[in-house]
Amino acid sequence: MIAAMDISIRKAERSKLQDLNLDDLPFGHYFSDHMLEADYENGEWKNVEIKPYQPLLLNPSVAALHYGQAIFEGIKAYKDAEGNAFIFRPQDNYKRFNISAERMQMPQVPEELFMEGMRQLIALDKNWIPTRQDHSLYIRPFMFSSDEVIGVRPSDTYKFMIILSPTGPYYSAPMRIYVEEKYVRAAPGGVGYAKAAGNYGAAMYATAQAKKKGYDQVLWMDAFEHKYVQEIGTMNVFFIIGNTAITPDLNEGTILDGVTRQSAIQLLKEMGFKVEERHLSIDDIIEAYKAGLLYEVFGTGTAATISFIKELRYKDFVMKFDVENWKTAPTLKNWLTDIREGRREDKYGWMYQI
Ligand SMILES: *Cc1c(COP(=O)(O)O)cnc(C)c1O
Repeated sequence: MIAAMDISIRKAERSKLQDLNLDDLPFGHYFSDHMLEADYENGEWKNVEIKPYQPLLLNPSVAALHYGQAIFEGIKAYKDAEGNAFIFRPQDNYKRFNISAERMQMPQVPEELFMEGMRQLIALDKNWIPTRQDHSLYIRPFMFSSDEVIGVRPSDTYKFMIILSPTGPYYSAPMRIYVEEKYVRAAPGGVGYAKAAGNYGAAMYATAQAKKKGYDQVLWMDAFEHKYVQEIGTMNVFFIIGNTAITPDLNEGTILDGVTRQSAIQLLKEMGFKVEERHLSIDDIIEAYKAGLLYEVFGTGTAATISFIKELRYKDFVMKFDVENWKTAPTLKNWLTDIREGRREDKYGWMYQI
């Protein structure tokens, strides 16, 4: 048992909220008045503090900047019509955070520090949760190695932090996707299943190349044959083929186990779809498209919720989708949004009240 966590709270003198229009927010540009910070030293977490959002003072030798022991999470908080605040499935993110920590040889974060720290921080910055539809408070817990030593080895000290960013809709327009045959995101035995900072830096070059060709994101393929689909950008991917929803399985550790993915699987079953988690090759996708059976393709993730794919390009073969007439992905998106914003019954206990 962890003893009741002692979190010291130092409040900001003035709220920055009055300078902001919460109805018109780009993703991830603004941060709330407070942040949580904790230090790991001598095998224990200490100095747990909620304080005004402010810069960190770091020594240039700090290990995370050189060797990349850095992980993060992405979670969202919402308000219902009565103004009650809820977090969407934070326990699942908590578990995943420690899975990422283990893979990166970083210490486990106790549940009380993660959950109670997040709850108290959000309770303090509750006014930062936007109320408008499709708007939310994005929660970013993260941890990085903080030893001030140049030398490749796991750090002895770490910092765990949580910051909050009010946000509007993320990728709102349907996307054009380039099927990536050269660069890879994750290989079996690698860190694809971890929300490790380096995964994102490593993906940027390929994404920039796709953008030059006029695409929004890439569809990542397996590392050996460049044939089996993995993820779209930083989202899990679903294909509706006939009355089956197919998404890549997690068995090889190359795919991030998305909380939105798990939620989509549940809701698709409720809609009457057969859901398959399995290998899916680009050849099978093209065949289904040619047969007129590939109805919808979409990405799932906390930031974007459900992102519609209007075009998929593999080599010179272009698949186009009539997003305007889709049924499934828009319904899924509405159901999820309605559960999160309190307009639809939360049958699964997904909403964690603050
Ligand atoms: C975060 C993330 C996802 C989506 O996970 P959610 O829990 O649904 O937000 C999918 N793929 C990658 C690579 C990610 O980093």
